[in-house]
Order: sequence, then structure tokens, then C-alpha cells
Amino acid sequence: MIRIYGASDDLVEIEGSKYKEDEIVCFGRDVRIWFEDGTVIRVGYPKRDLAVWWVEIECVGSAEGKIKYCNDEDADIYSDIFEIDSEIVKHQILLPLHDPNNKEPAEDAEPEEGANIIPIEEKMPHKVSEVMCVRCVRRWIDVRSVGVQLKDLVCPGCGETGGVIETGEEIREEEWQNESH
Ligand SMILES: [Zn+2]
Repeated sequence: MIRIYGASDDLVEIEGSKYKEDEIVCFGRDVRIWFEDGTVIRVGYPKRDLAVWWVEIECVGSAEGKIKYCNDEDADIYSDIFEIDSEIVKHQILLPLHDPNNKEPAEDAEPEEGANIIPIEEKMPHKVSEVMCVRCVRRWIDVRSVGVQLKDLVCPGCGETGGVIETGEEIREEEWQNESH
């Protein structure tokens, strides 16, 4: 059983694995880890309003990895803990997302020599669905990164956020690819 969790504020710990690393240094950045069974997880620090590491399963594989969630800053391991019976294939340290609320440049932002770093946007899985604004009743096909919440979408009709819901309408790929934004 492989265990993965965060420690300090810049380390991702790997236990029970033959992977080349047993610790990934990732100050201010998220880490994405791929497993042989197809699972992909992302690990980062901190949670919203909580000095605890989070783990998110981005892709579910055949080995059915599990997250033990932690919401206690004072726990010995103040981190969600991911467990899986599948070996690690590779990892990547992700560039920080541009956050307009965060004016402070990340310290220590220079990539390590030879570190495998890619922009998050490039590889983020996307979700496509028909959505509708309940304020102005406009419908459109929305393409967004997985993890972006409907409540944060801006309506192109009235410019408001918070009113966007999914219609559940089935869409074909060619429809949204031809959609102009
Ligand atoms: Zn609207």
C-alpha cells in the first residue's frame, strides 16, 4: 500500500513505494502524481481557510485509491492521506495558477533544474456542458477546467456570476467546437 500526504508546507511524502522519490519538494506549488492503474491525484497546500494539505483524485483508476480526509490543523499528519495499491509512474510540479487576488509573487518560484514543470492549464481536463443563466435565461455551451464551479461562471449575457446552472442537455462534440466564444 502506497501512502501519499503533505508535510511541513512544502513537502509531499511518499511511503511504501519504489518510486525514485520518497519526498517531493514543491514550495507554493501543487503536485500531480500518476499511478500505473490510471489514477491521477493532485496534492496541494493549504486548504481554503485551513492550514492542512489537500489531496484530490483527478482521475479514478482501476486500483481504487482512497483519500482519508483531514480537517485538523493540529493533527500529527495535517494532511489528507491518499492510499492506493498501485505504483507511481511519474509526478509533475505544477505552476501556480494565476490568481488575481494574490498580488504577492510566489517566493522561490524558479523551477528546479531538471524539474518536470508544466503549466496547469495545458493538461487540465475540461468539462463541456450546456449551461443557462437563471437571471437572463441565456443558454450557451460552456467549456471549463474541471474544478471550476458553476457559481463562479460569468454569464456572457448579463455579466453576472452565481446564476449559471447546467441544463443537462446532451451535446455533441462538434457543437461546442464550432461555438464561437
Ligand atoms: Zn445572465
